[in-house]
Amino acid sequence: LSRLRRTEPSVRSFIHVADAAAEREAEELDRRIASGEKDAVGPLAGVLVGIKDNLCTANMPSTGGSRILDGYRPAYDATAVRRLRDAGAIVVGKTNLDEFGMGSTTEGSAFQVTTNPWDDSRVPGGSSGGSASAVSARQCVVSLGSDTGGSVRQPASFCGVVGLKPTYGRVSRFGLMAYASSLDVVGCLGSSVFDTATILSVVAGHDKMDSTSSSQDVPDYVSELVSLDLLESKPLNGLRIGIIQETLGEGVDTGVISSIKDAASHLEHLGSVVEEVSLPSFSLGLPAYYILASSEASSNLSRYDGIRYGRQVSADDLNEIYGESRADGLGHEVKMRILMGTYALSAGYYDAYYKRAQQVRTLVKESFKGALERYDILISPAAPSAAYKIGEKINDPLAMYAGDIMTVNVNLAGLPALVVPCGFVEGGAAGLPVGLQIIGSPFSEGNLLRVGHIFE
Ligand code: GLN
Repeated sequence: LSRLRRTEPSVRSFIHVADAAAEREAEELDRRIASGEKDAVGPLAGVLVGIKDNLCTANMPSTGGSRILDGYRPAYDATAVRRLRDAGAIVVGKTNLDEFGMGSTTEGSAFQVTTNPWDDSRVPGGSSGGSASAVSARQCVVSLGSDTGGSVRQPASFCGVVGLKPTYGRVSRFGLMAYASSLDVVGCLGSSVFDTATILSVVAGHDKMDSTSSSQDVPDYVSELVSLDLLESKPLNGLRIGIIQETLGEGVDTGVISSIKDAASHLEHLGSVVEEVSLPSFSLGLPAYYILASSEASSNLSRYDGIRYGRQVSADDLNEIYGESRADGLGHEVKMRILMGTYALSAGYYDAYYKRAQQVRTLVKESFKGALERYDILISPAAPSAAYKIGEKINDPLAMYAGDIMTVNVNLAGLPALVVPCGFVEGGAAGLPVGLQIIGSPFSEGNLLRVGHIFE
């Protein structure tokens, strides 16, 4: 907690810090342990967690990074948050994000700009930038984020931490503010694969409040990790790895490419077979993603009407309430996405945009499925570059969208993907971290974590 208090003025990971409440909870925990109630405390007893502010937390502000939800205090916890709390974790605050998850830098928050702990002139990535910077600056042990098109993985890469996007449906979305429901997942961030596996084991699993959550058994991800014998000289013997050709070409920084190639050689050295694999539909994923995500957002965000939640405006009639509360309650990027989505879904353009994007989504899904029949895992960079400067892409949304090329396909296909730090490029005082993305078949999180564990 003292580290959080000391670093927060410069990093600004949190929209809401609950340090005093966390302190009281920790004292209560000490008291219970001292009075012999040791067995009554859960497996995460006393572990400080940060929660992305688009996940609802009972009696704590939950803004989604938007002014339109200023003052909103949900009456309930998101299921993932509830499970962490039931395991004894202490929620130390709500982390900053691009408004409703729409962005890749966290500069799109209505409240503040978060800085990258490796270099305070750079962005932490986004949209779960606060969750990544908080773990990176060791302000909390682990955090939850959400990943619709890369929002856990890209900030993990920029901040040099571990980020996991689970299979669609692995973690309940109940209490997650919907951005694009067919793509959204709750993800986990930690400073090690071990920590990340630990919280995934707690938050994963079926939830009757989310009909899209899977009822597949949740393996014990931690004991799967421990089963990996790192003393063996070839622990990855028999593992087939495909390195996605399209992710190592034009537009990708040379420093990033060489870090990923070094990581691939390391994996090879440990006994796996690494081959290049081509996914021809890879570049089509980006435009398809932005059409589908905006379309779903345009529908999901209609709930922010100035009546049900958050800030109230006074106006004479319903249209005026809608108009006024949205005009100053929503930011520029969010308005742009609603307009784009509404356009893509409108009668005259539906076939040309929405329908076509859905067709591309099927292509992407099939090409991943084919590749994952030939390879156990696929690898790529998590982002085409390391963290860039604050303000650099703020007026160029297309350049920002282009940075999501490495991650969006995985959401279109609903697959799990893990990002682990695998190298550095020049920049900042100590270099800037580069993340390796490891992609697998649905529900293969245990395998991804096992491979990621090699890098620490
Ligand atoms: N940057 C992407 C977007 O703006 C992804 C965001 C996310 O995963 N929430 O849509």
